[in-house]
Amino acid sequence: MSYTPSTESLIKALQILPGIGVRSAQRLALHLLERAPDDAKSLNHALSDALSKVKKCPSCRTLTESPLCEICTDEARDSTVLCVVISDADKEGLELSGHFNGRYFVLHGVLSPIDGIGPEQLGIWQLVDKLTAADNSVTEVLLALDDQMESDATAYFINEQLKKLKIECARVRFSQFKSGTLDKADSRIIADAFANKQSLGFEHD
Ligand SMILES: [Zn+2]
Repeated sequence: MSYTPSTESLIKALQILPGIGVRSAQRLALHLLERAPDDAKSLNHALSDALSKVKKCPSCRTLTESPLCEICTDEARDSTVLCVVISDADKEGLELSGHFNGRYFVLHGVLSPIDGIGPEQLGIWQLVDKLTAADNSVTEVLLALDDQMESDATAYFINEQLKKLKIECARVRFSQFKSGTLDKADSRIIADAFANKQSLGFEHD
């Protein structure tokens, strides 16, 4: 026996989700089709709605439904410090802690050549353009990445670009937390990470 062509397509589509293999995708697809068609319609609607409304902020790449995100438009934020994070979830974690009042830049991933993720995909050239723009007010960049190997490589690459721009750069390490789980981090851990930032520096003339 085999599933209908549309069921097979749905099973295949569900496998794009992280951590979902063939077996889980089959279980989810059959659950939606057999037992929860109304829920499936709601899911379909929510997904279409989010896809049509949610965009990356053109200035910091955070997910937003406005032309510019809330933090980029907030005049009360410190525009001299920019915190680079791997994901919107990390940004949310830092915001929850209340220990950072600057602005952000969201990479949405880390360098991973094997998966075709390079500087372009992470917006690193956009970051460089932002920092070299005539109206740039950023004097310090904080790389708030976890300590996975790919994150280290990403931090190194960004710092190499920033050295050329002579912008102060420091690493903020969340050694016990992987990207995506910072919203569960104790506010004290986040405060300590900022307090113990490691300057990566550049050669001052
Ligand atoms: Zn923004």
